[in-house]
Amino acid sequence: MRVSKGGTDMFCPACKQITTCKAWPAALITLDPNDYGQRMHYTKHKDINWFQRGRECLSCGHDFVTAEVDIEFLEELVELREALSSIKSNAETYIQESAAASQSLSKLSESLSVLRALKVYKGAKG
Ligand SMILES: [Zn+2]
Repeated sequence: MRVSKGGTDMFCPACKQITTCKAWPAALITLDPNDYGQRMHYTKHKDINWFQRGRECLSCGHDFVTAEVDIEFLEELVELREALSSIKSNAETYIQESAAASQSLSKLSESLSVLRALKVYKGAKG
């Protein structure tokens, strides 16, 4: 015999773990009357469409909205998240290395100024 738990086991963003969550119409969660429709899509990206549902965590009471999407879209999202993470990491390395390069150029410039003052450096003018 199947015993109903009154919901579906899923990840609760507040509990940060799998809990049992009850389903509600999304509009009851968002309080936006446009959310009474369950089939949604972005007007600028018609290929991104989903079926939405309101959820209430039966463990902590947190309510949120979930979306059922094409699995290929989900895989694309994961790839984009990983690519963005890589870009952020490379950008931080670039910033650190460009700061170090900037310091080196600044020191070189100071040294050339000293050489110019001593008229030792060929590029010295005056
Ligand atoms: Zn929860």
